[in-house]
Amino acid sequence: MNTNHLSERLAAVAGFVPKDTILADIGSDHAYLPCYLVNKGVIQRAIAGEVVKGPFESAKRNVQANGFSDRIQVRLANGLFAIEETDGVETITIAGMGGTLITTILNEGKDRLASVKRIITQPNLHAIAIRQWAVENDFQLVDEEIMQEDGKIYEILVLERGTANYSPTDLLVGPILREKCTAVFREKWEREMREWRRVVAALDKAEQTEEIRQKKSSILNNYEIVRKVLAT
Ligand code: SAM
Repeated sequence: MNTNHLSERLAAVAGFVPKDTILADIGSDHAYLPCYLVNKGVIQRAIAGEVVKGPFESAKRNVQANGFSDRIQVRLANGLFAIEETDGVETITIAGMGGTLITTILNEGKDRLASVKRIITQPNLHAIAIRQWAVENDFQLVDEEIMQEDGKIYEILVLERGTANYSPTDLLVGPILREKCTAVFREKWEREMREWRRVVAALDKAEQTEEIRQKKSSILNNYEIVRKVLAT
């Protein structure tokens, strides 16, 4: 990856960034995404936020090496605390982390969202947490994408302000992804169902405590939801 060429995963995230928006990329280890978007002329200004010193330094080096220091500010900060009110950030990208960590970042920095119109997330797992966060925080899904790279499947969830109420099925698999029902979507959930069958078989062999029974029931509930989705 470099300033001219992103991984397919990050390129898919970049594809949802509106032209000329002011961007904050949170968890921006090499600042690849903001550098690429500035290089391509999609955006003029960005903040790259990173909480760990090493990745922060490499983001800074990359921004400097590309001559973008006047346009991309790299900040060492936890989550949305990289954003100042005066930045006027309109779009946030948070990619390559678990859905639960992404929602923690969004919850902890809620007061930094005042000027934000669009949040683009790419959770590595547990996308359901982001859909739930959207419902609870007056955001709605305006687009979703699912793609495969190097055998791994990634979901991208695009949120904008608005109220939404999703069914348990839509929260789990995504209302827009379910509608699109692509081959990659089917592949993701077939893989998931295989894994759930394996886990349930293992749980069946364990001592049947209340915790085990609840875990099994929750998996079987999701299994049934997904089975119905794939059957339609
Ligand atoms: N966003 C890039 C991507 O998608 O390729 C980098 C993904 S990398 C796996 C996750 C990065 O997020 C790491 O550099 C990590 O240090 C950073 N990170 C994790 N928690 C964070 C937080 N609370 N605030 C800012 N950065 C965070």
